[in-house]
Amino acid sequence: MEEDIRRVGVMGGTFDPIHNGHLVAASEVADRFGLDEVVFVPTGQPWQKADEVVTSAEDRYLMTVIATASNPGFHVSRVDVDRSGPTYTVDTLRDIRSEFGRKAQLFFITGADALEKILSWKDAEQMFELAHFIGVTRPGFELSAAHLPEDAVSLVQVPAMAISSTDCRRRVAAGKPIWYLVPDGVVQYIAKRRLYQRP
Ligand code: ATP
Ligand code: MG
Repeated sequence: MEEDIRRVGVMGGTFDPIHNGHLVAASEVADRFGLDEVVFVPTGQPWQKADEVVTSAEDRYLMTVIATASNPGFHVSRVDVDRSGPTYTVDTLRDIRSEFGRKAQLFFITGADALEKILSWKDAEQMFELAHFIGVTRPGFELSAAHLPEDAVSLVQVPAMAISSTDCRRRVAAGKPIWYLVPDGVVQYIAKRRLYQRP
């Protein structure tokens, strides 16, 4: 008899801050692929952003919890926040896989910009064994899987949200609004913790 396999989406990101582009992508992929849940995984130290100032992992983790709390199908994992050293997606997937055991199939969700560079990620071949990859459209980037192994990746069109965390940070620093770009609770958390103010 075939076992019940849980279909689990994994959405990795710096989430500095999490915004509605991340949330729409996860929601749309969950619907299209019949996922049972999506686990958001804020990075510890993002290795691609080693030269940039990144907000503390705890603040990014909490904003991710606030943003996803109302959706029963969304969860947040601390695996990357709690692992020391730079965050590599292959380790994220190994940890999530051992958490769920064999009864889960993993789907790693990534935007078109990240998908472009994926072959430069650590142990890329093993990543493709651990999860099926789902590349989603993102305004300003071309979505293509031509450079990736066949069958490893699916491409999905999601509602276009021209939002980036970089733009949200700049807006806060310039005193401009971020309402409706990020969930209300995240706007309030950023104000409360005075994140992204000019130094
Ligand atoms: P930053 O500007 O700091 O790089 P970001 O907006 O790109 O932030 P990340 O945390 O770097 O957000 O991205 C996490 C994941 O979400 C990546 O796979 C990225 O491609 C995807 N993503 C981010 N924004 C969007 C968006 N507006 N539409 C679709 N995918 C997105
Ligand atoms: Mg990014």
